[in-house]
Amino acid sequence: MVDSQQVAPDGPVLVCGGAGYIGSHCVALLESRGVETIVFDNLSTGHRESITAPLVEGDLKDRASIAAALAEHKPKAVIHFAAKCYVGESVTDPAIYYRENVHATWNLLEEMRAANVTDIVFSSTCATYGEPTEVPIPDNHRQEPINPYGRTKLHMEHMMRDYSRAYGLRYAALRYFNAAGASLDGSIGEDHQPETHLIPLVIQVALGQREKIMVFGDDYETRDGTCIRDYIHVNDLGDAHLRALAHLQGGKGNVECHLGTGNGFTVMEIIEAAREITGHAIPAEIVERREGDPAMLVSGGTKAHDVLGWTPQRGDVKDVIRDAWGFLSKSPDGYSGRS
Ligand code: UDP
Repeated sequence: MVDSQQVAPDGPVLVCGGAGYIGSHCVALLESRGVETIVFDNLSTGHRESITAPLVEGDLKDRASIAAALAEHKPKAVIHFAAKCYVGESVTDPAIYYRENVHATWNLLEEMRAANVTDIVFSSTCATYGEPTEVPIPDNHRQEPINPYGRTKLHMEHMMRDYSRAYGLRYAALRYFNAAGASLDGSIGEDHQPETHLIPLVIQVALGQREKIMVFGDDYETRDGTCIRDYIHVNDLGDAHLRALAHLQGGKGNVECHLGTGNGFTVMEIIEAAREITGHAIPAEIVERREGDPAMLVSGGTKAHDVLGWTPQRGDVKDVIRDAWGFLSKSPDGYSGRS
């Protein structure tokens, strides 16, 4: 297998949504491997402070701004992270998701087509599977999303498949499990407003910013009754994107696969691990189930390994929590609290 440090796609690479949580880690990795990188982001949820690469402040809803960025920077490929990703909001206001995810991606694909940019690596999600019929989930599990967020991501996958067949687009759709962690030096990490994800919330309790963590249900059919998830380190996600792009550029075909560790942890196990790592008590209270939470989501796919030679380098969930702690203990108020 190729050592992960040696995989570097041909640049320049335009990273849409590169100032977001996962995007910024991928951008840092591209730069660390010497790949010329340009970020395209409207900064609606991204953070300028999270990147050192040049930033085009543009919006995928505005085709002229995409065309201008492609004409100026002449990227060889695009990595596309820009999307809305709150399941609850997608239920109450799906129009935002069809506009920001589906329509914006169509704009991007059209402008790429006009500029003859053929390669795209795209953030998809295991939410495209909906309620899994088989766990661990195989890469070829049927896709039947149960909320508008998952449906818009599936539409985006279908669009790329159709563009590939008709116009020769080369694409990778990488379906993430639960992205977590931060850069190893704590310089960049997860800063969502509002924060809804388990690991940063648990750390905010450790930091005294919240009184306790609410555990959404303890009556699931799992080993301790709380939900099981597969937490994948954000740097490992970044590495998979670089590998996927190098794979496309090598003419080896489109890729659709999972990005997960294959190991599942319950909510209580995450809290317990965070108590150990932070040395804080982290009070927890069991509350009602959260609507739409499947009991167990764990990757059972081997395609990312088999096709891309990808193996998570920080696959131990304690390392994931340790890195998230490293970022948030340095920047307890996220990027906005930095001078
Ligand atoms: N969770 C929880 N309390 C919280 C936030 C999340 O118990 O305050 C649980 C949630 O029910 C799920 C797991 O933690 O089982 C991971 O949730 P998260 O929102 O981080 O990611 P998701 O699985 O929704 O993508």
